Amino acid sequence: MELVTTKDILKKAQEGKYAVGAFNVENMEMVMAVISAAEEMNSPVIMQTTPSTVKYAGLDYFLANAKVAASRAKVPVVMHLDHGSSFELASEAFRTGYTSIMIDGSHSSFEDNIKISKAVVDMCKSSGIAVEAELGKVGGKEDDLDGGDGGFTDPKEAKLFVEKTGVDSLAVAIGTAHGLYKGEPKLDLDRLSQIKEVVSIPLVLHGGSGIPDSKVQESIKRGICKVNYATELRIAFTKGVTKYLEENKDTIDPKKYNKSGMEEVKQFVKEKIKVCGCENRA
Ligand SMILES: [Zn+2]
Repeated sequence: MELVTTKDILKKAQEGKYAVGAFNVENMEMVMAVISAAEEMNSPVIMQTTPSTVKYAGLDYFLANAKVAASRAKVPVVMHLDHGSSFELASEAFRTGYTSIMIDGSHSSFEDNIKISKAVVDMCKSSGIAVEAELGKVGGKEDDLDGGDGGFTDPKEAKLFVEKTGVDSLAVAIGTAHGLYKGEPKLDLDRLSQIKEVVSIPLVLHGGSGIPDSKVQESIKRGICKVNYATELRIAFTKGVTKYLEENKDTIDPKKYNKSGMEEVKQFVKEKIKVCGCENRA
């Protein structure tokens, strides 16, 4: 299949009251592992790259990997720009052929966030490419991304923001964070319900790594249609590679230890597809 955009698969998720897992990929092996998991689970899947990952290899490299993976897959596959940090990067991703784009104006004022998000929506509109924006600030630190202590999404502002920008989905800040949690995160699920009451587009949960599965499922019941996982994929891949190298100290073939990393990532992604309820939704 060709790459698809998030528009349809998130609408379907919203109707079916499940979420689609969005997995951050950092190399070819992670792309292969995520696709293989999605195929086995017969699930739609979103792969995404952050600006720091894009800096590592370039949008075109990652897109090429995703395109090949999608062309061999029977399930719908999206290539999404995660946390697009500027209009320039968003438009570069759009021109390169990413099929879904996040513009993250959450570090700017409310007005400036509207302005930049609307500009990206206007750019993408004619091609049908979906745009995700963020309101409030998801806390924590991951690479170049620093949300500090975070800032919760105000439901009233969310309503206005969606009306003014016309975005297709909205990342909300309800207590999740990027990177690793110290202790169990406290999610403001009532706030999520309040946002859902006034906003009709699919909502997105960032910082999925480390949130107990039951909490993720509760937030899906309250309107979350896309759940982002990044940190735990890195951990899984590194764990697989490390384990192999420890047990096979003379190995010089990257294919061998990469395979072990891929296996860990695949297992993790399969588990999370189940948690999100998107198994057999392809
Ligand atoms: Zn995020």
